[in-house]
Amino acid sequence: EIAQLKDIIAHAKEYGFVYPSSEIYDGLQAVYDYGAYGVELKNNLKRLWWETMTRLNDNVVGIDSSIFMHPTTWKASGHVDSFNDPMIDNKDSKKRYRADVLIEEKAARLEKEGKLEEAQQLLAAMGRLLEAEDLAGVRDLIINEEINCPISGTSNWTEVRQFNLMFSTQVGSVAEDSSTIYLRPETAQGIFVNFLNVQKTARMKVPFGIAQIGKAFRNEIVARQFIFRMREFEQMEMQFFVRPGSEMEWYQQWAEARVKWHKALGIPESKIRTHDHEKLAHYANAAMDIEYDFPFGFKEVEGIHSRTDFDLKQHQEFSKKKQQYFDPEVNQNYIPYVIETSIGADRLFLMTLCNAFVEEEKDGKSRTYLKFHPAIAPVKAAILPLTKKDGLPEKAKEIVDALKYDFNIIYEEAASIGKRYTRQDLIGTPFCIAVDHQTLEDNTVTIRHRDTTEQERVAISELHGKLGEACSF
Ligand code: ATP
Repeated sequence: EIAQLKDIIAHAKEYGFVYPSSEIYDGLQAVYDYGAYGVELKNNLKRLWWETMTRLNDNVVGIDSSIFMHPTTWKASGHVDSFNDPMIDNKDSKKRYRADVLIEEKAARLEKEGKLEEAQQLLAAMGRLLEAEDLAGVRDLIINEEINCPISGTSNWTEVRQFNLMFSTQVGSVAEDSSTIYLRPETAQGIFVNFLNVQKTARMKVPFGIAQIGKAFRNEIVARQFIFRMREFEQMEMQFFVRPGSEMEWYQQWAEARVKWHKALGIPESKIRTHDHEKLAHYANAAMDIEYDFPFGFKEVEGIHSRTDFDLKQHQEFSKKKQQYFDPEVNQNYIPYVIETSIGADRLFLMTLCNAFVEEEKDGKSRTYLKFHPAIAPVKAAILPLTKKDGLPEKAKEIVDALKYDFNIIYEEAASIGKRYTRQDLIGTPFCIAVDHQTLEDNTVTIRHRDTTEQERVAISELHGKLGEACSF
């Protein structure tokens, strides 16, 4: 049974994963903060992605570029002119919506009713209209499809307008000298403008990639669905530079590698799919989404895009600096083509949280736990002395000290052992290690496994190795 999103949101807040931003002031729409366990989970996901990209691929290196960039960057990239979403207002509820999302939601409803073909036709029609920038046509489609406002229930719609998603601010200490700059809406451009810096200084040869993790900002119109769509979020992007003509091969290869990565995290086959774009962005010659079956349906988690030489060419034109690479193998200068993998750290977080959330009935008892892969679990093990006396806490702390340099460990001595197990289940700790009187005699402990609740007796000397093996990815 699919857990409802609201149960997951409540759980995330109650157990220290995600809170609304500035909650004491009633929050800020589409902005969230990560708590004690949330930050661990998110850091683990980022680290796994980073290591997969930069260590497992010897032709991918990382960078960390600034959030602020020269304003011309966003002229060249096309964001100033066309990083828009089509918006529409309902005249009765005065609520604003993304026109494309209203249509996508209708298609999802059709799909749920088993009307697959109708759903696909609707999405294709929308794709054609958006591609032709036919905003009046998009409005007609909404009206013809009898799509009503989710709040007022009426179809009293305004015209469709384009809305730019970039946040802007002023730099300069005095008003006269100030100029408008943007908070980056994607991390990719920081990679493109550094393409030659990295290629030369890290002595990379095409094909090679540059990976980056960093904040991005978008003034999203539809800011619902928890951390799925935020106004401040984190992206993990990798731009892979290839010889022109070889891009389709690399596109397929990266798509396969990324799907495999998601499965290795524990996402079941049935919950993940790829979806080719109906509408290609102006810079792309192929694009697909990797989608996860969220409680609100299949939605994009990661994008794989073949961006051609669009970005580097644009930067060459606007900066008047050559963005070419000399390829000694073919004895030619060219602007490389780019395959991009782009994933939101927060969306990945939401996927892993939804996937981990289990409400189970067993032997007449109900239990909620988070079945994270141990590699991403916020806490790897809880060390629990059975009682607070007889030297058990001291023994337990020795174990903590032996493990804490390599693993995130919790020590807990309050409450009954059963209650402490429950608490660890709720934050997704894969192993509870109980220290009892027998431990003092023979240096063994009980490991209780989160998913099965089964227990086994092992020597303290084996703990480090066992944890290391379970937590490897
Ligand atoms: P959508 O269609 O959902 O708006 P997009 O196609 O604009 O997404 P991209 O520009 O391809 O998204 O961004 C790449 C990735 O960044 C997305 O797959 C997603 O994981 C993440 N992302 C994009 N926008 C947001 C957001 N507002 N909040 C959280 N994550 C986001």
